[in-house]
Amino acid sequence: MTFRSVAIIGLGLLGGSVGLALKEHLPQVATTGFDADPATRARAAERGLVGSVCESAAQAVADADLVILCVPVGAMAAAARDIAGSLKAGAVVSDVGSSKQFVADALAAALPGVAIIPAHPVAGTERSGPDAGFASLFHNRWCIITPPEGADQAQVEALSALWQALGAKVEIMDARHHDMVLAVTSHLPHLIAYTIVGTASDLEGVTESEVIKYSAGGFRDFTRIAASDPTMWRDVFLSNKDAVLDMLQRFTEDLTALQRAIRVGDGQQLFDHFTRTRAIRRSIIEEGQDDARPDFGRSDHG
Ligand code: NAP
Repeated sequence: MTFRSVAIIGLGLLGGSVGLALKEHLPQVATTGFDADPATRARAAERGLVGSVCESAAQAVADADLVILCVPVGAMAAAARDIAGSLKAGAVVSDVGSSKQFVADALAAALPGVAIIPAHPVAGTERSGPDAGFASLFHNRWCIITPPEGADQAQVEALSALWQALGAKVEIMDARHHDMVLAVTSHLPHLIAYTIVGTASDLEGVTESEVIKYSAGGFRDFTRIAASDPTMWRDVFLSNKDAVLDMLQRFTEDLTALQRAIRVGDGQQLFDHFTRTRAIRRSIIEEGQDDARPDFGRSDHG
């Protein structure tokens, strides 16, 4: 099976990028879209993010074989309820939410009897809104699909093929495992960045202009992550609470070990630790998930 018409609900960074990528890579697929914000709908129409911007979610999904919910995780249930009575028979509902078990449960409760195949393209930027999307966002990035037990294999394969056509590499994973992996690779780093940027801005005796002036010392890299959308990230932490708290506990223990090494002057422990982490950076570059150029002067999209 292949999807011939796709409806996108939520036309911000992710929804806009899916729409533009579909237009570029699968121009034969008809696209419709809806966003709760009228200003976003108007801008989406101007940028041509989808073939047709609709005035309601129900209208957008009426002819769609596949619906992709691209709203914040906390808005998934409401977005699903809005389309519940309007889906075409046999339509598949998917999403791009950053946490998966919570979204899977919310969609199953809102859409009984509907084929639901959640997904998470691990691709994004710190930007949001209808001007943020671009067609190449998913190129060479992983898209993790988390089919529930008993999901129709043909539908899972069709969704995988669609993401591959948009340039992504696909991995099938259990939703809870996804949540644990992403807690350490994405959610915890964002929490740390939000914390350290807050710590620096609250620091007495260091002026804001000094924080900004000397940011190239490392702080600047955290500020990019800490500029990410507040609504999206509030929802991520609330919806992946257990895995995030578990990773935070491990992180705190490791931080305490490094703190002790500094206190007792154990240079060997620090050196060995930093050598191990440097190797992880090399593996990320070898896997094509970042490039080897030094950070200075790189464009946002690497
Ligand atoms: P975004 O740029 O803020 O776009 C989300 C859009 O959805 C906004 O225009 C929002 O309108 C709209 N919306 C909210 N509730 C709605 C509803 N019930 N019906 C229709 N539209 C609604 O956010 P995003 O970065 O694209 O994130 C969307 C999803 O992608 C999230 O679940 C996030 O976890 C996931 N994701 C994000 C990234 C990333 O790096 N940003 C990466 C991978 C996955 P208002 O602004 O008026 O609320």
